[in-house]
Amino acid sequence: MIQRSLTSRFLLALLALFLTGFLAIVGVNAVISNLIDDLDAQSANERARLFIGEHIANTIRQIESHFFQFAVAGEATRQRLSRDILRSTNELEHAIHVLQSGGVVTKRLYLNIEGYDETVRQEYYQPDAGNSKFVLEVIEISPYIDQLRTRLATLDATLSRQEHCAENDVACFRTTREQLLYQYKSIPSFFFRLNENANRLFFVGNNQLQALEQKLQEQKRNLLHTQLAIVVLVVLTVMLLGWLAMRRIEATQAHIERAREAAEAANIAKSQFLANISHEIRTPMNGIIGMTELLLESPLNPEQTEQLSIVRNSANHLLQIINDILDFSKIESTQIQLESIPLSLADLCHESLENIAVRARAKGLQIRETIPPDLPPQLLGDPVRLRQILLNLLGNAVKFTDRGHIALTVDSMPSEQPDICRVQITVSDSGIGIPEDKLEEVFKAFTQVDASTTRRYGGTGLGLTICRRLVEQMHGEIRIDSVLGQGTRFVVTLALPRVPEQVSAPVDVLQPAEKARPLNILLVEDTVLNQRVASKLLGNWGHHVTIADHGGKALDILNEHTFDLILMDMQMPIMDGIEATEKIRAREARTGQTPACIFAMTANAAEGDRQRCLEAGMNDFVTKPINAQALQALLARTFPADT
Ligand code: ATP
Ligand code: MG
Repeated sequence: MIQRSLTSRFLLALLALFLTGFLAIVGVNAVISNLIDDLDAQSANERARLFIGEHIANTIRQIESHFFQFAVAGEATRQRLSRDILRSTNELEHAIHVLQSGGVVTKRLYLNIEGYDETVRQEYYQPDAGNSKFVLEVIEISPYIDQLRTRLATLDATLSRQEHCAENDVACFRTTREQLLYQYKSIPSFFFRLNENANRLFFVGNNQLQALEQKLQEQKRNLLHTQLAIVVLVVLTVMLLGWLAMRRIEATQAHIERAREAAEAANIAKSQFLANISHEIRTPMNGIIGMTELLLESPLNPEQTEQLSIVRNSANHLLQIINDILDFSKIESTQIQLESIPLSLADLCHESLENIAVRARAKGLQIRETIPPDLPPQLLGDPVRLRQILLNLLGNAVKFTDRGHIALTVDSMPSEQPDICRVQITVSDSGIGIPEDKLEEVFKAFTQVDASTTRRYGGTGLGLTICRRLVEQMHGEIRIDSVLGQGTRFVVTLALPRVPEQVSAPVDVLQPAEKARPLNILLVEDTVLNQRVASKLLGNWGHHVTIADHGGKALDILNEHTFDLILMDMQMPIMDGIEATEKIRAREARTGQTPACIFAMTANAAEGDRQRCLEAGMNDFVTKPINAQALQALLARTFPADT
């Protein structure tokens, strides 16, 4: 959870980083494009200036040629020429003005003499404050403009006067001719200076344009390089920061992973500790229960019998709690392995009901049992764990019901696979019920509906947790529904494989009270208490018991004596049960001795232990604390009295 939120925060930061990088690149591009646009505009302006310079030079040349035509033209032509010259002079004046203060210059090119068709070219120019040199040329041309107009007017006036001289007025002719000669003589030098200035203007403009264009090219190149450099820098920075962020994410994830592993290890250690401690408690419980049983078998007065019965019941109750804790911790540390052996579900249900029947009847509860006749007689499963589930649910039903009934119903359900039997086991009661918002809570470890439950009804709050885990491990499902004050119903659905015909074997049903023949037994057990309990029990049943403190002692004794049965504890100092058994079997193989019958005794009732015992060469297995009835039945089955 934390890991996910951290990762998403880092990813967000990374995204923000990339976005910033992207925006930076876009910004840099915009700024540089702007600068380049500026340079382009400058270059266009410069080109406009060159165009205007060229326009000025051309106009001056045109005016010059018109001036010379003027001299030889007739009256009508002169008027047109005069108009043209004036218009050109105005254009010249305007062009010079634009060069000085900015504006638009329009160049018209007439395609026919009447001037109806024309092409127009317009250039916009904005003077550059730094270009004073250029302005100088312009200023030098300016004074000639007025002179042009005066000269034209004077020339025109002189020519008119000449034309209007009387035919024989020689004086008039001479004066005007002299005036004309004088005026025309100065025209070439006038235009020469004007042209010179105009050409200089054009020349300077051209040079400047070239220089500017070169400079612009260079600046553009530099800008592009800068742009590239900045983009690369931004990309590299973003990549570097991204890499650093990724490393931090990885480091954080590794850290979280380590923390999770540590937490898991701590949880397993806790469960292991619980398992060990309850195992340790079970061993002395063995002594208490065993000795109590023995005492109860000895002659007692009624009061002593009653008191001892209470001791025995309390001890059994305590053992039940310890077993629950052990189961829970085993489930937690995933040590429980389920068996898959033939069982009769109907028998299991019946036995479990029998088990709680006394308590139910004592509370005046009615017991209902519905098991369909078509239920397969045998299914594969773990009878011990199934019984545990049933007892838990039925135990709760009795515990939390004060009047009315408890019911156990089995239904077989349709199954898609022919070799699987789907069954639904329902345990219901008319008890106190569970509030709706607590329905899920009851499956949590050490959780009870309310704090007063423990005080009123007892219990650790582990029963349903274990039930659910076991059912889940069997790939089944457990559901609950309840109405407060009216009752509760637990429904367990399981898919149990049917027993294949040829494997089908009768289910082991204990035949209590059957007796074994008297046996010569070697008891290998390190705890003095257990030695006394077991040897007393076995002695009471008429067997002869020899005791060995550990596996090594047992081997020594076996050198001299033979026994019908060896009862072998698993955990012992010096040599444990597994090693001792392997040594015994090895020696039997060497010497060709008849193999002895060896039963393991262990508090670790898990499947794995059982497997290890059998692999080491043991024949069977009894759990500790020793259940007197079960041991007696096993002995009777293995060594029947009539053999
Ligand atoms: P434990 O089973 O470990 O001895 P417990 O019975 O209190 O203790 P669970 O079997 O896990 O623990 O049940 C948890 C709680 O659920 C109970 O304490 C009780 O409050 C509620 N509960 C369980 N079964 C019933 C029921 N049949 N009717 C009403 N309440 C129930
Ligand atoms: Mg319970």
